[in-house]
Amino acid sequence: MALLLGCIADDFTGATDLANTLVRNGMRTIQVIGVPDGLEVPAEAEAIVVALKSRTAPVAEAVAQSVASCRWLRQAGARQIYFKYCSTFDSTDQGNIGPVADALRAELGADFATVCPAFPETGRTIYNGHLFVGDVLLSDSSMRNHPLTPMTDANLVRVLGRQTKSAVGLVPYATVRQGTAAIRAAFDKLRHRDIAYAVVDAIEDEDLRCLGAACADLALATGGSGAAIGLPGNFRRAGLLATRPAEGDLPSVGGAVAVLSGSCSTATLAQVTRMRAKHPSLMLDPLTLAERGEAAMADAMAWAIANLKAGPVLIYASAPPEVVKVVQAKLGRERAGAVVEHALATLAQGLVKEGVRRLVIAGGESSGAVVQALGVRALRIGPQIDPGIPATVSLGDPQLALALKSGNFGAEDFFLKAIEKLR
Ligand code: ADP
Repeated sequence: MALLLGCIADDFTGATDLANTLVRNGMRTIQVIGVPDGLEVPAEAEAIVVALKSRTAPVAEAVAQSVASCRWLRQAGARQIYFKYCSTFDSTDQGNIGPVADALRAELGADFATVCPAFPETGRTIYNGHLFVGDVLLSDSSMRNHPLTPMTDANLVRVLGRQTKSAVGLVPYATVRQGTAAIRAAFDKLRHRDIAYAVVDAIEDEDLRCLGAACADLALATGGSGAAIGLPGNFRRAGLLATRPAEGDLPSVGGAVAVLSGSCSTATLAQVTRMRAKHPSLMLDPLTLAERGEAAMADAMAWAIANLKAGPVLIYASAPPEVVKVVQAKLGRERAGAVVEHALATLAQGLVKEGVRRLVIAGGESSGAVVQALGVRALRIGPQIDPGIPATVSLGDPQLALALKSGNFGAEDFFLKAIEKLR
């Protein structure tokens, strides 16, 4: 099997979400962490999703990373490029969606690309070019007050228009509803008028499937993870992709199991409570870590070594808001975060040395710190554990089975389910 689809995602969890969607639609998918410079192309990949951290990076940096990733994906054999951003179109008037899309079009020599952040499953729909979050316009949703990318305009034609010099048009719902041929005809009309981007209305998954089919011959499509559901079908119809169960297959890794949690989100706190009731657990106190440094880490490792033999262990810094506040008042927000992330990363390295091969990590930043410390550059994406969170196995030596979850993802029994699913 050869690489078919190359994807560039502007953040890590978004990349995982997209990879999960592609696996569920029957593509063998690898997620690469950061620009894949010098990385060997994984032989079994039909889709590769490059996870960047470019959503709120300076424009020039986001563009450079995206173009470098695009080049690598094309050299690896990708026949089509998908640029993935958030389903709430997180961006500012400076970018980065417009400038990155412009740069990718230039790189690919493409005069035209689609724009569709719709994700009906999570209530993101587009009608007459206006993005809705549930039953309110994007500009009336909580995204209005986002600290980095406040979205105060729901009209995507206008929003993207401010980020690019190229012309932006619309394929309205009346056309989308008529199906793939009508959408394709609308693309042709827009291209004839030198319009470079088509914002495409979509309300249901079926709309996204029709859109996906209409994108078969485009070098570049852009959108959320929702709009990618129609892309695997194109390769299947062309005889390039086998029909297989939508489960994703992963090699079995074996080895000891540990859960590391640095997330203080409500869902994570409940997941910690659930796991504590069943398995040995150790709480990390950031104040102790800051005070005692290496000695505190040595104690934590000794505890882990003593308990790992009996089964899965949980080590967590997760704490309710009132506790976090006290810690932050003493250490400062950044130092508190850094102390915990460093501790989790160092413990992960120690645990792997002690034979742990299956790790569940809670927290977006925490996962990033651990994965970096372990030198993991790419993940095979397997079956979904909970919505948006797949089981994965790292490429490289040693192979590690990983479940990485951010913030409020996952049901209350997520840790217990993840332990079962990582094999
Ligand atoms: P989430 O995905 O839930 O936002 P993250 O890992 O991205 O989780 O962010 C949580 C942040 O809180 C991390 O920087 C982590 O180091 C920090 N943190 C974790 N536990 C504590 C604690 N007890 N006190 C202060 N900060 C903490």
